[in-house]
Amino acid sequence: MHITFVSIPGYGHVNPTLPLVQELVRRGHRISYATSEKFRDAVESTGAKLLPMPGEMPNRPPGLDPAEMAKVLEGFVTTAREGVAVLEQQLAGDRPDALCYDAMTMAGRFVAERLGLPDIALHPTYASNERFSLRGQLMSNSNQEFPAEYVQLFQRLREICDQLAAELGVKPGNPLEGAPASLNIVFIPREFQFAGDTFDDRFRFVGPSLGSRVVDTSWQRPDGARPLLFISLGTAFNNRPEFFRNCLRAFEDGRWQVAMAVGEQVDPADLGPIPDNFEIRTYFPQPAVLQEADLFLSHTGMNSTLESLYSGVPIVAVPQQPEQEANARQVEQLGLGRRLDGDDLSAEVLRQAVDEVHDDQRIRANIAEMSEKLRGVDGAVAAADAIEAHLNS
Ligand code: UDP
Repeated sequence: MHITFVSIPGYGHVNPTLPLVQELVRRGHRISYATSEKFRDAVESTGAKLLPMPGEMPNRPPGLDPAEMAKVLEGFVTTAREGVAVLEQQLAGDRPDALCYDAMTMAGRFVAERLGLPDIALHPTYASNERFSLRGQLMSNSNQEFPAEYVQLFQRLREICDQLAAELGVKPGNPLEGAPASLNIVFIPREFQFAGDTFDDRFRFVGPSLGSRVVDTSWQRPDGARPLLFISLGTAFNNRPEFFRNCLRAFEDGRWQVAMAVGEQVDPADLGPIPDNFEIRTYFPQPAVLQEADLFLSHTGMNSTLESLYSGVPIVAVPQQPEQEANARQVEQLGLGRRLDGDDLSAEVLRQAVDEVHDDQRIRANIAEMSEKLRGVDGAVAAADAIEAHLNS
């Protein structure tokens, strides 16, 4: 079969699909993959053909200011309009048998409907159905002063998406609350999905797909008997030098060996003296570090959270935006770690939480069980099986 993938040009969206593409290619299918040029090497290394698409992720996250966020959302809609035109042109002489699209790409869903192709949505984070919406969940977790503005923002997003759908003659619906596709591949385990038991068999919860990322020789665990703490705020909402300074103070006594990823926006030279038990880098090979780590002090982005659970590492969560907040609450709810309140991340609070979670036998047992579950499923194989079965039915 010829299957076309469509993805948002962000690592968190493209990465989970690559082992699946590789698996489909291994099974003899021909894959074309529509995303930005930036991912050409990654896409081609799976054996797929890149269909270059317009649009880039913003270099810097918009922050939580609703006006800035609104601009970014409107940009997504403009990109979707262009994306539909470009994709249809590229597929004109080479019609695929199905479209697998990131659930957040409007272009993917709209083109599937316009061309009458089987539609398969790929969800790197929570899926939504008729009973649960990610938008509703994000709103209910908002404990800051922006809920009213965010309600307006989501309303605006709905209007501009509906406008575009009408223009293109397809069913309305926006990426955060759209109707499910005929098959939905969700790269998280059902246990982690909110309202997981309300999702029927249109949804396949295949869990994370880390491929070869868990093996990486560019980092070695330092010698010594100290437990290893990994600290990261991810790759986007990470410009928090004061948080990293508090971490230096919290763990300077040397009881923990610390690997701290500070991201591209923080200069380690601005953090003051670095204690001997710290290794600081812009970016670590995270899945490989987590294979060795005893605890993860994390922003709880979805990928980081699942990578930690996969490796059996308890989490102390310091979420930086609403979706991470939802993940942090889920981590705490499932007894896999603890969520800290962003208002008080002093050195003392950080240290106490890390020590207590490390000693918590109940969390350890829950994490071990979750890790075993995730390691027991090859997400790429399960997703490829589901896609083949769906297309052959
Ligand atoms: N990552 C990494 N090294 C780092 C920081 C991040 O490899 O030092 C990877 C991490 O393994 C994950 C992704 O970047 O796959 C971050 O995605 P996530 O959804 O956790 O957060 P975001 O960066 O999108 O906020």
